[in-house]
Amino acid sequence: MTKKERFAFVLKYFEEQAPNAETELIYDNPYQLLVAVILSAQCTDKRVNMTTPAIFQAYPDVAALSHATFDDLFPLIRSISYPNNKTKHLIGMAQMVVEDFNGEIPATVDQLVKLPGVGRKTANVITSVVHQQPNMAVDTHVFRVSARIGLTTNATTPLQTEKQLLKYIPTEKVHIAHHWLILHGRYICVARSPKCEECGLRPVCKYYHSLVRGN
Ligand code: SF4
Repeated sequence: MTKKERFAFVLKYFEEQAPNAETELIYDNPYQLLVAVILSAQCTDKRVNMTTPAIFQAYPDVAALSHATFDDLFPLIRSISYPNNKTKHLIGMAQMVVEDFNGEIPATVDQLVKLPGVGRKTANVITSVVHQQPNMAVDTHVFRVSARIGLTTNATTPLQTEKQLLKYIPTEKVHIAHHWLILHGRYICVARSPKCEECGLRPVCKYYHSLVRGN
């Protein structure tokens, strides 16, 4: 099977199984999504969703957040991983958006990565979810699932995975393919014991053929 054929099978499968896949983070606007994605580093979406309502109530927009003090914001995100850094990042992000971007959440990866707490992955999520730009955010699920299925070969960094995926996924499908791979990794192709018997990708999955079936 060629890589092109493998990609075609995988994309068709996901299109049929999850035509409306989307982020599990709860948000109403780009500001809220950016806050949620910054908080989601090393933390589950479920935990983030339990935390953000109080933040959005106290700081309904980026201008309000830019005036937050560390001592006011910290208690609201205390239950999340790395609360110290994330508190600083959120305030710093809001201040930079207000001062350098006229209060508008930037819409390009190059601008977004200038913000505190925003790396390439976060910038890719924001631009693909909010603006449907063909940017592939590679988190631990996307990295693992892509390698197991055989969509990537010998990729050792998220950037290598991103580049290999972008080579084969049609531009208009990149933003949803990100969700397909994340959700597949979160619920089926889980890290420790992938649920191969429930998985419709078995016919093309390299991991399944090499390890599970031993051929
Ligand atoms: S067959 Fe198994 S290893 Fe392959 S994608 Fe499905 S769950 Fe993951």
